[in-house]
Amino acid sequence: MRRFGPTVFAEMSALAQRTGAVNLGQGFPDSDGPASLLDDAVAAVRSGANQYPPGLGVPELREAVSRHQDRWYGMRPDPGTEVLVTAGASEATAAALLGLCEVGDEVVVLEPAYDAYPALIALAGAVQRSVPLLPTADGFALDRAALAAAFSDRTRLVLLNTPHNPTGTVLSEDELALVARLAVEHDAVVVTDEVYEHLVFDGHRHRPVATLPGMAERTLTVSSAGKTFSVTGWKVGWVTGPAPLVAAVRAVKQFLTYVNGAPFQPAVARALDLPDAFFADQAADLQRRRDLLSEGLRSAGFGVRTPAGTYFVIADPTPLGFEDGTDLCRRLPELAGVVGVPVSAFCEPGGPAAEATAALVRFTFCKSDTVLLQACDRLQGLR
Ligand code: PMP
Ligand code: GLN
Repeated sequence: MRRFGPTVFAEMSALAQRTGAVNLGQGFPDSDGPASLLDDAVAAVRSGANQYPPGLGVPELREAVSRHQDRWYGMRPDPGTEVLVTAGASEATAAALLGLCEVGDEVVVLEPAYDAYPALIALAGAVQRSVPLLPTADGFALDRAALAAAFSDRTRLVLLNTPHNPTGTVLSEDELALVARLAVEHDAVVVTDEVYEHLVFDGHRHRPVATLPGMAERTLTVSSAGKTFSVTGWKVGWVTGPAPLVAAVRAVKQFLTYVNGAPFQPAVARALDLPDAFFADQAADLQRRRDLLSEGLRSAGFGVRTPAGTYFVIADPTPLGFEDGTDLCRRLPELAGVVGVPVSAFCEPGGPAAEATAALVRFTFCKSDTVLLQACDRLQGLR
């Protein structure tokens, strides 16, 4: 693990604290989730849900996850064998990689990649095969030839992420179909990180890859309460999929954390049953804030690609004369009193994704209007 230093999020949040800059780096909301959710967790603490819960997670939550998958996607995992509660999506992904990969197995990953993925692949002793998502005029697109070329007879797993951090891309049906075809051809398991499943905009729909023909039997679908309910500090996540694959994840999870978050689990279970309006209103409000930040960035002189989902917008500072996103992010607190995250931190140094995104900066818009407007105001000074 020597090559993995402190995460870019820790580094940039510390920089924001040290300098008093507005922190649009690390993606966490500055307001809490729904009041009913918070009240339910407090009530669970008060009513004594404070000891180890069952290893698979509390039954109410496993049943609620199963209902959620049915309500949104028409899948009905068995709460007894096909749903596992984990310490956030992070642990689900970690345990899946550790449980399913042998040393030397290959893992196909979209790049830029969430920073945990390369570290987890390394922990599993597996080999990363990156497929670039390349900037286009208005977004990012999967390099299809590179995707096909990334598969080999050593491919064990495809680690997908849609909606995608950091680019905000929602993979198209066509892109998912190609991943599915290649996974079937190479008999690979797909682990898909869908933590932003409910944060999609402009009428885009999130489609879990597990719903594609032939995929249910080879896909582990991962999500968490952090993003959907604005409680990133609770670390309650889950994975669903066929019983043998979930069992492999559980075999690892039981020795990583054993169990987690007893009083949060019944609260999250109830929140998953919130009416459609909650999910729609939240996405609409976030879309409004996406537009607020995007407009501010554009008027400050950045090029902006409008994300279809997530908490993040990618800004291109080259029109302002900045070519190196990492260097700009280090200087941005001093230049403008704002913190962002360089997209190259999500890329293997020297690779095609790093090269294509070298100048780009990720800013989060999961903040109050006041904070976003303050950041936009400060950034006007960059010209
Ligand atoms: N996956 C992605 C793509 C993320 O952006 C994050 C960060 N929120 C996580 C996983 C971590 O999720 P959790 O906090 O539920 O572990
Ligand atoms: N997922 C969040 C982001 O991308 C941060 C999570 C973390 O700090 N590891 O900003």
